[in-house]
Amino acid sequence: MSPSSLQHEPPPKRLGRLQGRTITLCVTGSIAAYKAALVARLLVKEGASVHVLLSDAARHFVGPMTFTGITGNPVHPGMFESNAGGESHVQLAARTDLLLIVPATADVIARVAGGRADDAIGATVLCSRCPIMIVPAMHPNMWSHPATQRNMKLLEDSLRVERVGPVHGEVASGESGEGRMADPEQVLARVLRCLSRGDLHGKHIVVTAGPTVEDIDPVRFIANRSSGKMGFALAERAALRGAQVTLIAGPVSLTTPFNVNRIDVRSAVGMRNAVWQAMRPDLSGADALIMAAAVADYRPTETRATKVKKDAKTFTLELTRNPDILAEIGSARVRPDPLLVGFALETGTDDEVLSYAHRKLEEKRVDLVVANRAQESLDRDDNRVALVAAVAPSIDLWIHSSKAELAERILDWMAKCFAPQI
Ligand code: C5P
Repeated sequence: MSPSSLQHEPPPKRLGRLQGRTITLCVTGSIAAYKAALVARLLVKEGASVHVLLSDAARHFVGPMTFTGITGNPVHPGMFESNAGGESHVQLAARTDLLLIVPATADVIARVAGGRADDAIGATVLCSRCPIMIVPAMHPNMWSHPATQRNMKLLEDSLRVERVGPVHGEVASGESGEGRMADPEQVLARVLRCLSRGDLHGKHIVVTAGPTVEDIDPVRFIANRSSGKMGFALAERAALRGAQVTLIAGPVSLTTPFNVNRIDVRSAVGMRNAVWQAMRPDLSGADALIMAAAVADYRPTETRATKVKKDAKTFTLELTRNPDILAEIGSARVRPDPLLVGFALETGTDDEVLSYAHRKLEEKRVDLVVANRAQESLDRDDNRVALVAAVAPSIDLWIHSSKAELAERILDWMAKCFAPQI
């Protein structure tokens, strides 16, 4: 292959996952109010248009300038301040996709539960018909007080209100307990899930990711260059779209995506056991399996209990074929359930890679093969793939994008398969 065949356009700029969404961020008077600025920044980075309302108490902890600087939008004035030319709480509520109260004090929880409208936050909450997310932060005694618990329960039971945290940990007084605000990243993950399309809701998807590692002795092993990024992106995006996700991961250094059940394995045989356990012997355990892992094809026939000494001049290692997990599941399956997605990682030309992918589709009896080339995929944040499917439209050729965007494309394809056929 010539080096020029590896050149291609730079990947398109990653589209924020909240592009086109309007979020109203209500900040109330807790020491954790500074964390609302971090949440605002995460939301803006994901492309959301963020509009901030500050309670009177919040203004003692953080200033409007901070939020104006982060969001690029003026902080909304209080109910009785002049807002000539500004947007009213009625207009703001009407165009808000998610109303986020962060941090939420015991007081705002009580006021919202009581339906109060004596400040801009209360009035906006009452006017809105979008989902509401509440992120409490307060002293553990205030949180566990029956009055707060009763108010919060009332809000949660009223369907539109989702709660994030509080978590157990140190609070501002230096004491520990349940009352600490959830981390801004956790808030972002919940916002993403809340605003995602939810088209995979009710589906259990098993995803494998990363390399497998085959031990030679207690010190050495055979592995490959897979980073696990593609599989983790699939797991993250599937969870955000409402699926229940089991992620079976070889040794990788990646953080578990929010709301994903991760099972760590080491070898191909370990991965095979975990996959069969998740899928169950009759394959009724999941609606889909995505084999994004780079499973080692061979393992040492024998794993030595002690370190191999370098006495001999040459050293021959005998290898044994590993089970082909996807092919096993493919041959055990009575079509169409569960949906099976495999990857084909090759080093040849585009045409060669495509013909391997077609062969794998048949040999492994799967529904979709994601064809990609090692040079354009391994340990990178982007990838260039072709989706080769068993049913029409059978080929989606050479899409170059971030692994996150590609994960969405693969899941879009799967969501169509799950949709009831008319
Ligand atoms: O045959 P090949 O290894 O190229 O097939 C790649 C696909 O098969 C990937 O989806 C990979 O996860 C899966 N695979 C497997 N078990 C193996 C080897 C590969 O499930 N032992």
